[in-house]
Amino acid sequence: APVRQPKPKWLRVKLPTGKKYTELRSLVDRYDLHTICTSGSCPNMGECWSEGTATFMILGNVCTRSCGFCGVKTGRPDTLDWEEPEKVARSIKLMGIKHAVITSVDRDDLKDMGSIMWAETVKAIRRMNPETTLETLIPDFQGNERNIDRIVEVAPEVVSHNMETVKRLTREVRIQAQYDRSLGVLKYLKQQGINRTKSGIMLGLGETEEEVLQTMRDLRDAEVDVVTIGQYLQPSKKHLPVKQFITPDQFKKYETFGLEMGFRHVESSALVRSSYKAQKHIN
Ligand code: SF4
Ligand code: SF4
Repeated sequence: APVRQPKPKWLRVKLPTGKKYTELRSLVDRYDLHTICTSGSCPNMGECWSEGTATFMILGNVCTRSCGFCGVKTGRPDTLDWEEPEKVARSIKLMGIKHAVITSVDRDDLKDMGSIMWAETVKAIRRMNPETTLETLIPDFQGNERNIDRIVEVAPEVVSHNMETVKRLTREVRIQAQYDRSLGVLKYLKQQGINRTKSGIMLGLGETEEEVLQTMRDLRDAEVDVVTIGQYLQPSKKHLPVKQFITPDQFKKYETFGLEMGFRHVESSALVRSSYKAQKHIN
């Protein structure tokens, strides 16, 4: 059997500390609030939470898709909870979140693919937290413009959709998705007047440098403003293996290239997740 590669030292994470972190942690536990930060045990919790940023997932915990890198459960999705928008809005208020990232599982089982709940969630957050800025990290909605329009109408400050990987590996990494369709979603968002669009890719799945650069060029062609690039880590043995640990120098190189290509922001380093430093991407 292949030996699993040990993690290089730049991937070792310090446990989050700090007053703000401790306060939020106890709120989250006490009120049973659902953030991706805690459920995915994100390495950046200390940093993000102390800056007032957190990520919330809507439309349940079960996804209709089965991407090979993703730790979310696949299967028959939960029934919709129409109180979810209020619950998320209340969590944001309780936690005093200044910049919220909202994401969801994919709901290919629903006619509107969850877009109505998405819009209701943004509206509820705005009502209860008029000062909070928002990033919506949306699914591809199978490229359906009517569904994407529901997001455009509620005008989040940032709308993101992740490519996750390069073109050649898309089938292997996210079987139900399509590279060009995802690019099309990003392009459409910009055409509809979304101020800041954003996308993320994970490295270490077997992609070459040239493929990464091509993906970045494709994103620029779709007028995407922000790109995040991080190291893929295998959530469990059942998921795709890590083919390579990308060095800090290589991440730096992508950052330099990205800024030259004209991205407004490039977050490129091993522990970057798509919502890392999210607050600054509204500018
Ligand atoms: Fe939460 Fe995203 Fe920050 Fe991780 S990077 S702690 S998931 S906001
Ligand atoms: Fe995970 Fe999103 Fe893929 Fe569903 S669509 S399996 S939540 S990455």
